[in-house]
Amino acid sequence: TTAYAQEKELIVATDTAFVPFEFKQDDKYVGFDIDLWDAIAKELNLKYRLQPMDFNGIIPGLQTKNIDAALAGITIKDERKQVIDFSDPYYESGLAILTSVANENIKTAADLAGKEVAVKTGTATVDFLKKEVPDAKLKLFPNIDNAFLDLATGRVDAVVHDTPNVQYYANTAGKGKVMVTGALQSGDFYGIAFPKGSDLVEKVNGALKTLKDSGEYDKIYVKWFGEEV
Ligand code: GLN
Repeated sequence: TTAYAQEKELIVATDTAFVPFEFKQDDKYVGFDIDLWDAIAKELNLKYRLQPMDFNGIIPGLQTKNIDAALAGITIKDERKQVIDFSDPYYESGLAILTSVANENIKTAADLAGKEVAVKTGTATVDFLKKEVPDAKLKLFPNIDNAFLDLATGRVDAVVHDTPNVQYYANTAGKGKVMVTGALQSGDFYGIAFPKGSDLVEKVNGALKTLKDSGEYDKIYVKWFGEEV
């Protein structure tokens, strides 16, 4: 295969805070998405620069082509497919509820009715709750870390966000303070996102397949999630 004909460094957006897919550690961005993209870029011989940004800026940035690709645990959704392109799915995900460890009362979507629920702007969670629990009082945060803080200080009753993210947070920084109490949705898939019509899609799909076949994908998965795929 030939290397991608590259005139300039690709701008590859990631979220600013979405453990363990991308997060800042010792002044550097690390995580599953970061490692996965780096392996893809090596495979395809791509030069790139990471551009961390709030999640809600990513899809507009792809639409205006200010960004060449994005990895941010972006859920593949039909509405999004109308404005951007996705790679093949690379991670199976879902949505879950996070509460303080002292709260025994919020385990299902119905329990969220009338409650203050912190969510992240522009995410699949917002669409889900508006449709499934219209009575929940949504408090929107561009950065989920601030939603976690609001939960820790009792300003909201729950956070709803992607399952792997709340699970990882509950097992690390939030340990002993917060817990995952219920799953709201499963069978979502993350894809790498591109501007519509990007010729990177096919190449990246090829690289993803190579990494899966070679066991490199599994290595990265185990590094961040600690179990076999
Ligand atoms: N998977 C969610 C979405 O696509 C959000 C991911 C994130 O917060 N980075 O809407």
